[in-house]
Amino acid sequence: MNEMLNGLELTRKLIAFNTINPPGRERPCAEYIGELLRRSGFAINYSEYDTDRTNLVARLPATAVTRKALVFSGHIDTVPLGRAPWSVAPFEGEVHSGKLYGRGTSDMKSGVAASILAALNLAKLSERKADIVLVISAGEENGCEGVLHLAKQPELLGDCGAMIVAEPTDNRPMVGHKGALWLDLAFSGVTAHGSMPEQGDNAIYKACDGIQALRAFDFGMEAHPVMGGATLNVGTMQAGMNINSVPDSAHVSVDIRTTVGQTNAGVRDQLVKALGPQVKIGTLTDMDHVYTDPQDPWMQKVFAVCEGLFGEAPKIETAAYFSDASVLKPAYGDPPTVILGPGAMSMAHQTDEYCEIDKIDACIEAFTAIGKDYLG
Ligand SMILES: [Zn+2]
Repeated sequence: MNEMLNGLELTRKLIAFNTINPPGRERPCAEYIGELLRRSGFAINYSEYDTDRTNLVARLPATAVTRKALVFSGHIDTVPLGRAPWSVAPFEGEVHSGKLYGRGTSDMKSGVAASILAALNLAKLSERKADIVLVISAGEENGCEGVLHLAKQPELLGDCGAMIVAEPTDNRPMVGHKGALWLDLAFSGVTAHGSMPEQGDNAIYKACDGIQALRAFDFGMEAHPVMGGATLNVGTMQAGMNINSVPDSAHVSVDIRTTVGQTNAGVRDQLVKALGPQVKIGTLTDMDHVYTDPQDPWMQKVFAVCEGLFGEAPKIETAAYFSDASVLKPAYGDPPTVILGPGAMSMAHQTDEYCEIDKIDACIEAFTAIGKDYLG
């Protein structure tokens, strides 16, 4: 194994592992990363939540501990290729005009590669006042399954004083992201022949009433100045057996994005009240929002590093997607957390996904500088 890999080469190695989720099968990729870090003195722990669904926690102990660990977080699963044909081979690591193409280049194997290479740079420091930890997860793309498993093992995660989540942000430091609460609303009625509707109880009518209540629903709070307001969208409705029966069941799925000042549990309670007791509410995804005060001293240092490297003061902004931080930040007791990675936000989950090679190198530099400041 070549220890001198650069950002391009390591990202290329990582995308060569097909970790499309489902089925994921992250184990070979996790073991490759584990071996790379083990050779530089990291202690490696694998944690599988299902066959070949392998998380990795790598830890390099401090030379003298004075603060909690610096944690890098990233996932190694990717979304499927999609229906549209690709014009490049998705696992070959083709390079064209300064861009590395392939599934997972932006979301987020370039970010994982940058985290690993920065950690290897930091491992060479003669003095490190905190542990360096990499939490590399499986199964992020379908609801953070991997880190949900890790969150049940606090002894494995250890502590954390600051966290970097290398999801694609075009190297812009993001102070958080919205939460996601995906619900299935089940309305039930009584079936009857379509010619005698008075003998039934129409579940579609109930669902329509429910949807009207959702359209009028008010979260009862002001939009957050950085993250914006909570949103609600009815995404699907499934109901009815045939034209000549009264439907006795209807399902409506709702995608709610929560913001600073809310908890998903609190919003769910609000909806229970708004919809009434006849609706059965099932939870499909439950990821709380992530937010760090931009004035937090460590976040200010991250901004200063980014300004120094990229030449302009970062905007205070948040990402549109959710990430493993929804699980890891609370599991770690709410450390300051930045979402910062070399991938292009617009490329996540796209056909012909790519990452700009320059951005990977710049990100390694940023992570190394942030780490030096924290560990020194
Ligand atoms: Zn991602």
